Formats: sequence, C-alpha cells, structure tokens
Amino acid sequence: MTTCVFCGIAKKEIPSSAVFEDLEVMAFKDIQPSAPVHYLVIPKEHIQSIAHLEGNHKEVISKLIFTAKELAIKFGLKGYKLVFNVGKEGGQVIDHLHLHLLGGWNNKKDIDILPHPSLDK
Ligand code: AMP
Ligand code: ZN
Repeated sequence: MTTCVFCGIAKKEIPSSAVFEDLEVMAFKDIQPSAPVHYLVIPKEHIQSIAHLEGNHKEVISKLIFTAKELAIKFGLKGYKLVFNVGKEGGQVIDHLHLHLLGGWNNKKDIDILPHPSLDK
C-alpha cells in the first residue's frame, strides 16, 4: 500500500469519484469541495509539486491543463479557475502534484447537471 493518497487513488487502492482517466492522468471530485464544482486533475506518476517539475514533464503538465479544459466543457462550466498550490507555504497539503478545477458559482446549468455534495442542499 502506497503512502501517498493520490498515488493510492491512481492505483485504485483508495476509492475516488473519477470523472476521467487515461494512461497518464486522472481526474476526480475533490472530497472537500471549496466551490460548487471542484475537481482535481493529477498525473498518475508521483511528482511532488510544480516546484519539482523536470524537463521530461512538459507533456504531462500540458495534459493536466487540457484535461481540465475538456472537463469544463463536458460539465458546461462557462468560467472557472485553475489552481496549482505549490509547497506548504503556497497552501499545498497533498504532496502529489494536482490541478484544482473550480467553478459553478453563477451557473445555473452547472447546478442542474452536476451531482455534487455541496449542491445537494
Ligand atoms: P491542496 O491544498 O492543493 O494540497 O489540495 C488538496 C485537496 O485534496 C484538498 O482540496 C482536499 O479536499 C483534497 N483531497 C484530499 N484527500 C482527498 C481524497 N481522498 N479524495 C479527493 N480529494 C481529496
Ligand atoms: Zn503520489
């Protein structure tokens, strides 16, 4: 069993609400959403943070952003925020690189189509 929670999710040792997966990346719902719509997009490879990126990571980092863009289209988000927290001082709690996709504040359509814990009330 891996000690990194997002490696655990990538290896299906830890359950998640996945919305996208291919060989290199995975996207799933944030367990404690800070927006009406909140997904995390991760590389399956363990990379600690943006500060730990190396030259051979250019493709995977680009893939994270394209995946977030495709998810935003899929879920009808008109506008959204993409956030990388970097390091403890930057608010990073999980030391496995992840891109936050946040949205759904003013978009009635998001609320109609997305089953999401924060929207159940
Ligand atoms: P950060 O502060 O950038 O490291 O964000 C980590 C995010 O991971 C937080 O928004 C947490 O709610 C989320 N999180 C932690 N554990 C899990 C999990 N098992 N499944 C889904 N999201 C998680
Ligand atoms: Zn990891």
